[in-house]
Amino acid sequence: MSDPITLAIAAIRPSDKAVLQEQGVDKSHSISPAVRDLVIRAMDSFSATANPVAIMEELSVVDFAGIYHGEGQNDSEASLKDIFPRADRMALFALTIGLEISNTIENLLSGNDIALGYTLDTVASLAADNAAGLLGNLFSDRLLYDSKMNGDNWVLGYSPGYCGWHISGQKKLFQHLKPYLIGISLNDSYLMQPLKSVTGVLIAGNKEIHRFKPNFTFCRACRTKSCHARLRALNIERNE
Ligand code: SF4
Repeated sequence: MSDPITLAIAAIRPSDKAVLQEQGVDKSHSISPAVRDLVIRAMDSFSATANPVAIMEELSVVDFAGIYHGEGQNDSEASLKDIFPRADRMALFALTIGLEISNTIENLLSGNDIALGYTLDTVASLAADNAAGLLGNLFSDRLLYDSKMNGDNWVLGYSPGYCGWHISGQKKLFQHLKPYLIGISLNDSYLMQPLKSVTGVLIAGNKEIHRFKPNFTFCRACRTKSCHARLRALNIERNE
């Protein structure tokens, strides 16, 4: 097993702007002192209770094929099935923002301070996304060091439960990576505990392998359309 990677809180803390945007606050309106105070308190609570840690382990395309197949429930249209066989390198990952912050959110939402709980939940969710991005950068740096990357190579993450990779894929991923060693458990519904945890695979390869048209049948039910920004970035930026 790879050693646990401690992630710096400052490196994954979202900006105030990102938190407000995620909560649907119209950026053209001025922020009331009460809302500003709420965000400050949520950020303070995040810094006091987050304990971000991750594990990452490289594996071969052949090994990942078995993990990806999982329980045989993936959507036949899933883009990842065409992406991973063309990868140069790949790594499974799991990360968590920690149990204490999840318990704090639960406690606040159960009645102690619902507004603060809701805002802290937003901060923690954005921080978990940022942590996944940070791990992608760490993997990219590792490949740069090994001279396996160039300007046309990208590292992007894909997770079970999204874009046709069935959530039951968590079972084989957990068997292989053992995220319980950093405190993440999986229940029978494939839900992780602590809740603010992310698992998936980081795929490194020519940026063209990550390109697809997001018009699969399952896209109709997608609320985030999170691939759109990534696909736009493929056209305009380098992933270095
Ligand atoms: S639209 Fe949603 S479901 Fe479809 S590929 Fe993009 S992120 Fe995935």
